[in-house]
Amino acid sequence: MNEYDSELVAGLLEKESYQRTEDSKEAQLILLNTCSVRENAEDKVHARLSNLKHLKDGNPDVKIGVLGCMAQNLKEDLLKSKPYVDVILGPDSYRKLPEMVQETKIPLENVVDTKLSRMEVYDDLFPARREGINAWISIMRGCDKFCTFCIVPFTRGRERSRSIESVVEEVKQIRDDGFKEVTLLGQNVNSYHHENRRFPELLQKVAEIEGIERIRYTSPHPQDFDDELIKVHKENSKVCNHIHFPLQAGSDPILERMNRTYTKQHFLDLALKMREQIPGLAISTDMIVGFPGETEADFQDTVDVMNQVKFDTAFTFKYSPRPGTKAAEYVDTVPEADKQDRLERMIVLQKEHTLLRNRALVGETLEVLVEKNSKKSENQHQGRTRSNKIVIFDKAGEQPGDMVNVEIIDAQGITLFGRIVD
Ligand code: SF4
Repeated sequence: MNEYDSELVAGLLEKESYQRTEDSKEAQLILLNTCSVRENAEDKVHARLSNLKHLKDGNPDVKIGVLGCMAQNLKEDLLKSKPYVDVILGPDSYRKLPEMVQETKIPLENVVDTKLSRMEVYDDLFPARREGINAWISIMRGCDKFCTFCIVPFTRGRERSRSIESVVEEVKQIRDDGFKEVTLLGQNVNSYHHENRRFPELLQKVAEIEGIERIRYTSPHPQDFDDELIKVHKENSKVCNHIHFPLQAGSDPILERMNRTYTKQHFLDLALKMREQIPGLAISTDMIVGFPGETEADFQDTVDVMNQVKFDTAFTFKYSPRPGTKAAEYVDTVPEADKQDRLERMIVLQKEHTLLRNRALVGETLEVLVEKNSKKSENQHQGRTRSNKIVIFDKAGEQPGDMVNVEIIDAQGITLFGRIVD
């Protein structure tokens, strides 16, 4: 989402004749688009801002801005600790940016705008995208779910969606710009709703656009997943057979304390139904260990879901409280050593499942979209299957953006290795 928002801001500034530079020493305006989901991301921004200060010391005309969730969440702290920051804009205030940076001396009370909007979806702005294979398109913003560990509803505001027509228009534009793949984005993408039209209908309409080869979306919430969405997957091969399906925890009491609004059984029923009905489906997930109150028995419930679903990949986290969330008020009962131990066991198990899933593909021929040179060899390309698996294979005259058939000959960790076949 932040990548998309950065492209949106770049589009706004390019309209005002600003030019992009990759070299901060050359820049007159430096913007950091920030994330508050994890503490680590915030720490990085603080460090980066400290590093940028000397540029401003050398040239007072340089302007530095902080955009996005951290601007929203930590504006007081930023104003106090980084007084050399010129502009602080929350995720619903980007339209103000050109006007703000044109002022030579902005009075202090005007440098901050973090008002959250119930309407802003930026659907009349076109992001300045870099060339590439995949284009991101934001279809909705904000989140109404209020999971107790998550800061997003406070930094991104309430849910609001663009019209189907405006999304379809933007998909046609990225197709005309040469993109083969689109990823529809939202904090809670499948709770998309605009004038009683919902996410499955939007996905169906996007799938009907000629020339777009692959459609992905992220991140859905299990509560908003239904048979209609599974049907759209089943009936449209362009809608990729990969679903990110965030579990977070497998124990009902923990899910309740997280306010995830589904049970272990509901999650399992959906995941197993998807596997049964969507051919070759890959399921990835997010899981948190050590949420306040989590016992070993609760953790074993998560392990049980892992064993039943056998996720293809997982993002795994040790719980740490985010100030301002409800869970930050809970007593953090799980000792650090237990959190670490559970995380390590989870990672070992997930690696087994990833390998198991990937080894099952050895011998199959899969359609791969060529993305770029492989990191290890200039003689090899890296591409991606519809199920979002990375495949490495020897070059045979194809170019990034081409679709090739690759026979899978090996699987190591999350990576597949193959050879191009006719
Ligand atoms: S659904 Fe996702 S974005 Fe919304 S509160 Fe929960 S974790 Fe955060």
